[in-house]
Amino acid sequence: MAEEPRAASPSEERRPSGGGDRSGGDRPRFGGGGGGRGPGGPPREGGRKFFRRKKVCKFCVEKIENINYKDYRMLGQFVAESGKIVPRRLTGVCSPHQHRVAAAIKQARNIALLPFAGRAS
Ligand SMILES: [Zn+2]
Repeated sequence: MAEEPRAASPSEERRPSGGGDRSGGDRPRFGGGGGGRGPGGPPREGGRKFFRRKKVCKFCVEKIENINYKDYRMLGQFVAESGKIVPRRLTGVCSPHQHRVAAAIKQARNIALLPFAGRAS
């Protein structure tokens, strides 16, 4: 009787992908190596690194069926500077084509047309 069911208080802060209160643990992150990406990194705004206009698959538009691994110029568009394959959500390539692109990139890497990783600095 005395219990009042409290609805979720609207004043509760919601944090983006928080999951636990780690307040006070605000130390700079010294990761082992490389990228500035970590799990639960700082929320950045306006991440428009890559051009992103229409999500349309380049290969579907141009009707390219066979993606040739020797065509490193074309494949180079899907490899980031770091040597990684750019994910589909950034390029807009459709799933089956991305799959072929990825396969072609891997083939091209094996014959040293494309880098496995970015150049060592
Ligand atoms: Zn496609």
